[in-house]
Amino acid sequence: MYSLKELYRSGLGPSSSHTIGPFRAGNIFREKNPSTASFRVILQGSLAATGIGHFTDKALEMAFAEHPLEIVWRDDIWPEQHPNGMVLEALDNNAQIIDTWNVFSVGGGALVDAGKDINAGEHCFPHNHLSEVMDYCAQHNLTIPEYVEKFDSEDIWEYLEGMRVAMMQSITNGLEITEKIIPNTPLKYAYKAPEVYKKASLELNAAIRENGLLSAYALAVSEQNASMGIVVTAPTCGSCGVLPAVLRYLQETYNKTDKEICKALAVAGILGLVAKHNASISGAEAGCQAEIGVSCSMAAGAAAYLLGYDIYHIENAAEVAMEHHLGMTCDPLGGYVLIPCIERNATAAVRALQSAYYVYLTGAEHLITYDEVLQTMIETGKDMKDSYRETSIGGLAKYYNRKLKENNAFTPIQSSKGNC
Ligand code: SF4
Repeated sequence: MYSLKELYRSGLGPSSSHTIGPFRAGNIFREKNPSTASFRVILQGSLAATGIGHFTDKALEMAFAEHPLEIVWRDDIWPEQHPNGMVLEALDNNAQIIDTWNVFSVGGGALVDAGKDINAGEHCFPHNHLSEVMDYCAQHNLTIPEYVEKFDSEDIWEYLEGMRVAMMQSITNGLEITEKIIPNTPLKYAYKAPEVYKKASLELNAAIRENGLLSAYALAVSEQNASMGIVVTAPTCGSCGVLPAVLRYLQETYNKTDKEICKALAVAGILGLVAKHNASISGAEAGCQAEIGVSCSMAAGAAAYLLGYDIYHIENAAEVAMEHHLGMTCDPLGGYVLIPCIERNATAAVRALQSAYYVYLTGAEHLITYDEVLQTMIETGKDMKDSYRETSIGGLAKYYNRKLKENNAFTPIQSSKGNC
């Protein structure tokens, strides 16, 4: 498996595959062709189908800065290698192509050249499945953070500290936002994090307070993501609120040090890498189970670690968290990473902690392993119709599109009960 640095990346929201990946590709290609007259980027598959809502065009415009840029949307082309295809072209003064790059944005901001194995790259860990990691840790009497320290790069703790700081900053930014509506979308989605945080902080009922604080932190990060703020992929931008929410809540509740939070990031990172290597963390490839499902597993494992449970409970918590997200489709309204994405982060944060508590209460005995549930996840994802894999033509998005057509506008449904 790759380094944790390949999993955790800080960058512009709202989508690791649709903004961070294309932004990185654009920068690499522009730097390779510094004196070209203009550029053309052909977006294919899911990048073309939902790129406008995911701000792929804005990310590319930022990457190519003041260079003339043409973006071509080809949602009629679905490359076999991966649904997020891009062809970048450099053009001379006669509009002749002088360089071309066919690349895929495979999730989490990662890029893979056409023709290469999606899973190719620099592997620093000698194991690819969690069962192998667990066996190795048992044989050598290691914890998962010690395993990471043994095999990942020398500066991995420094890197994880940077990711921790960026995650916590995204929560702070989201809680302190003073604007009312998330900009640049027709959905008129109101920021919720500051109000939920205020209410939860004053709440006397312990269960509602815990649920409310977890939700507020997850909403804060996800709303930053939807506003093109800086977030950390965990494992993706769409699912970036779950892990920071659980880490901050447990740090505050149990007085955990920053170093312990970094170790929890290492635990969550191994769970995310196993998912990325053997299954998918791309909604375009396997639906939302690959994004929110994996983020919930990562956060559940991190929670189990911070609560002091052993490696078997960590594995079981991650498995439980994924098992109950199986089949979850990716169907964002209008292609915007807003509905259902933002709320999904909040509910997954609550479920992650619940999964950790659940395995503590039930013991770590279980029939299906984390490795097996991931295999189920990717098989289920492959069975899904394209309409449920980040195309915004199925599920909730289909309902929204129908409403738009009927009313020529979208009016959010108001609760008839008001604020009770
Ligand atoms: S529905 Fe899930 S996978 Fe799809 S864009 Fe939203 S968070 Fe990402």
